[in-house]
Amino acid sequence: MKVYADNAATTAVSPAVLQAMLPFFTEQYGNPSSVHGVGQEAAKALDAARAQLAALLHAEPKEIYFTSGGTEADNWAVRIALENGARKNKRHIVSTAFEHHAVLHALKKAEKDGAEVTLLDVHADGLVRLEEVAAAIRDDTALVTIMYANNEIGTLQPIPEIGRLCREKGVLFHTDAVQAMGHVPIDVAAQNIDMLSLTAHKFHGPKGVGALYCRAKIPIPIFIEGGAQERGKRGGTENVPGIVGMTAALAEACRNMDEDDRRVAGLRDKLIEAVAAIPHSRLNGDRERRLPGIANFVFEGIEGEGLLLLLDMAGICASSGSACTSGSLDPSHVLLAIGLPHEVAHGSLRLSLGAFNTEEEIDYIIKTLPPIVERLRSMSPVWERIRKGA
Ligand SMILES: *Cc1c(COP(=O)(O)O)cnc(C)c1O
Repeated sequence: MKVYADNAATTAVSPAVLQAMLPFFTEQYGNPSSVHGVGQEAAKALDAARAQLAALLHAEPKEIYFTSGGTEADNWAVRIALENGARKNKRHIVSTAFEHHAVLHALKKAEKDGAEVTLLDVHADGLVRLEEVAAAIRDDTALVTIMYANNEIGTLQPIPEIGRLCREKGVLFHTDAVQAMGHVPIDVAAQNIDMLSLTAHKFHGPKGVGALYCRAKIPIPIFIEGGAQERGKRGGTENVPGIVGMTAALAEACRNMDEDDRRVAGLRDKLIEAVAAIPHSRLNGDRERRLPGIANFVFEGIEGEGLLLLLDMAGICASSGSACTSGSLDPSHVLLAIGLPHEVAHGSLRLSLGAFNTEEEIDYIIKTLPPIVERLRSMSPVWERIRKGA
């Protein structure tokens, strides 16, 4: 059996989304900037997609900027805040220690350019505390950027509350909503979100296309010099098939949200219950305040990489949720941020489910995982000591 349980890394394109995209590769391949009919057809599709995406976020079409994905949108949001802040001599940024690297590394760069960054601790439950955000905001704070849902452990942050706080204090608020989009109702107006990042390939759309929502009235510096695309802020011919696909995918995800969330959360809970029976294991992050699809575990006495390898051999695609694949042996910065010791954080496993997963697949994971954990522990030099210590 083959089981794809790595939907937080990327998802399969939904069949309906693929169908919606296909004409834009063949018949309607025009450049939206062209004055002729073929180009104007593409321009119409682009306008319609922008309007539909805006409506799904409760935004205005002119507040949507198409990008190459989540990383670009995150980088752009940080740049917007820095340039607006600099005009008012505000160079302080508040964020958290468990953001995606797209945000964390953009903030590192900002520090090199003279910004001061406060990274809030995340508590053992994987949640940021509103009072701590409030306490961190200063007179010279240019931006608060906090992710909607964490991509490794799935915990949902109190975004509407943080949005209200930032609006009251007059501070720009950005959220990386890449993991939450399509799974949680998001309303940028009601939730007081100034900027938001999303990417299509995390909700059954194509890779390489995303968007930045930026509230009207926030001055936006030019991000990519070139043509007049994206209101002159990001030059380059638009990825029309990708944008059409992204919008179709988000519409589909939002239409099915209640039903999919309920079903996927049921599968996730079944998984969490089964893993709880494995000794010296634990679920990372708050049990309730989490995305329907993500569950992250640690198993003491084993290495996550070995676990992934054996799961893969058994046909199960999972992730350690960490940056181990990038060649570094450091455990996940997210697990360290929630206070796990190094040696425990090494034994992590992220299973991320999506709308295409079936009950049968979950049963297969539940049957396959415990013996693999047992086998790895039997070869582990530290397991005996951990077991006896209990
Ligand atoms: C996947 C992801 C990103 C990056 O999006 P890309 O489209 O792959 O650049 C950013 N933030 C979070 C939380 C993610 O999960």
